[in-house]
Amino acid sequence: MERTLAILKPDCVRKNLVGKVISHIESAGFKIVAMKMLKLTPEQARAFYYVHRERHFYNDLVNFMSSGKIVALVLEKENAVDDFRKLIGATDPKEAEEGTIRRLYADNKQENIVHGSDSVENAKIEISFFFSQNELIANET
Ligand code: UDP
Ligand code: MG
Repeated sequence: MERTLAILKPDCVRKNLVGKVISHIESAGFKIVAMKMLKLTPEQARAFYYVHRERHFYNDLVNFMSSGKIVALVLEKENAVDDFRKLIGATDPKEAEEGTIRRLYADNKQENIVHGSDSVENAKIEISFFFSQNELIANET
């Protein structure tokens, strides 16, 4: 079964939306394989978003992602990566489709509530950033 990494970003936690967003995720058919709440150091946030190091928004993004606690989740479903990207919607909530998590809850392009891996390959890398093998035991069916 395919897996993806989700992060409920600091704005999600600050706005008391953790339960609502997880409810959306579960209602859409994703199984939670692993979940933890933590605060990234600026160094960890820089490492997680290393692919964006040359982008104009990188420093602001690092500051935001290390500004408060986050919730990291490993989600499982057929076609999990693409289906989760559809569920969260476009990066900018103004451009996100009606009913998507970002459209419903996000304030702006930076503070957009949730992260989702953009490929199966990146999902594997991002999952191992947050979770060790013994935290990734498959769900019973
Ligand atoms: N971001 C931003 N300004 C931008 C583009 C992106 O602050 O112009 C932030 C936003 O939080 C986004 C993250 O950087 O979720 C990663 O950007 P990416 O283009 O990978 O968007 P995503 O894959 O999260 O939709
Ligand atoms: Mg991305």
